[in-house]
Amino acid sequence: MSVPTASPRAALAPSEPYRSAAADGALGLDHAQFVARNAISNWPLAYRDLFAPHADLPRPLRRWCAEQQLPARVLVPRQRRRHMRTEKWLFGLADGYAVESVLIRRRDGYTACISSQVGCAFGCRFCASGQAGLKRNLSRAEIVEQVVRLGPRVNRIVFMGIGEPLNNYANVLGAIRILRDRNGLDFSTSGITISTIGIPRQLTALREEHLAINLTISLHATTDALRGQLIPGARRHPLADVVGRALDWGRRHNRLVTFVYLLLPGINDTADDLERLVALLRGGPARVNLMRWNAVDGLAFGRVADARLAAFRRGLVAAGLPVVVRDTQGNGIDAACGQLWLRDLQGGALARSSPSPAPLGD
Ligand code: SF4
Repeated sequence: MSVPTASPRAALAPSEPYRSAAADGALGLDHAQFVARNAISNWPLAYRDLFAPHADLPRPLRRWCAEQQLPARVLVPRQRRRHMRTEKWLFGLADGYAVESVLIRRRDGYTACISSQVGCAFGCRFCASGQAGLKRNLSRAEIVEQVVRLGPRVNRIVFMGIGEPLNNYANVLGAIRILRDRNGLDFSTSGITISTIGIPRQLTALREEHLAINLTISLHATTDALRGQLIPGARRHPLADVVGRALDWGRRHNRLVTFVYLLLPGINDTADDLERLVALLRGGPARVNLMRWNAVDGLAFGRVADARLAAFRRGLVAAGLPVVVRDTQGNGIDAACGQLWLRDLQGGALARSSPSPAPLGD
């Protein structure tokens, strides 16, 4: 196959197939078919082949991908660690950065927990990913390729890795479209979850997307003041606005929004917190994931008492809210949104500055 010198589209002669004898038959379409099919769609086809790591793509196709801002096969596996039912991968990127992805085995399949950014601007106190700030967004290709790299057994995808997915809205939504395209990975959108701190403007944009994904909001507080302490990057996003727009999304798409609430003893587990949480969510298409942090040496947060956890749960259930209780440990995954591994947190100042908990009526 000749090496093109002009633009990739122009360089591919219409009669020239994408696959050469030396290549792996990436697309099975000749140039004319590929361009014709892409002319009626904004998204290229057969993405799985574009991103699958097992063989080189023909150079013209690589160039075409780059032109489409889909530089394929850019992830370099650098590390792979197993812990119980999880497998954590560190992928190197072309510019020297790295991101993490996690494969989680469930009873009925595998979940890919993938990253959307290098670093994160939100600086959550309970998350290692945010401590160094945001370096850059991941491209659509870098997002999709994580899923492909984790293998064909993946039947759920969660944007809970490094980065705030709604802070890289265009590329995350672009990647989801690639993942769901029936000519591509043909991934069911009902198996895709965006887990987010909740950026109001992007939540409204997401409401207008025709995507049957799942939405999880990392809430963790019932006042703006405390949420601003826990999630510094969310200080300019009023809690009521975040919750209101998330519930709007749920009503529009007829789906329950999952609100994740990490119970931190002495910080957000008071009777007042319970009352405010119920007031925020009652009557809306909401369910609550109550997370319990298991104390780890060197971290200031403690483990919430069983009685307090039970009271919180009872209060939410009494208000008609479905509740699931989860422990943060056990996944064996370092964090980010929703997973709350709290690896590098030094939370002393936060814990000390928090008011004494009011007793729960249990
Ligand atoms: S929890 Fe999510 S939003 Fe917060 S710092 Fe970590 S990656 Fe960013």
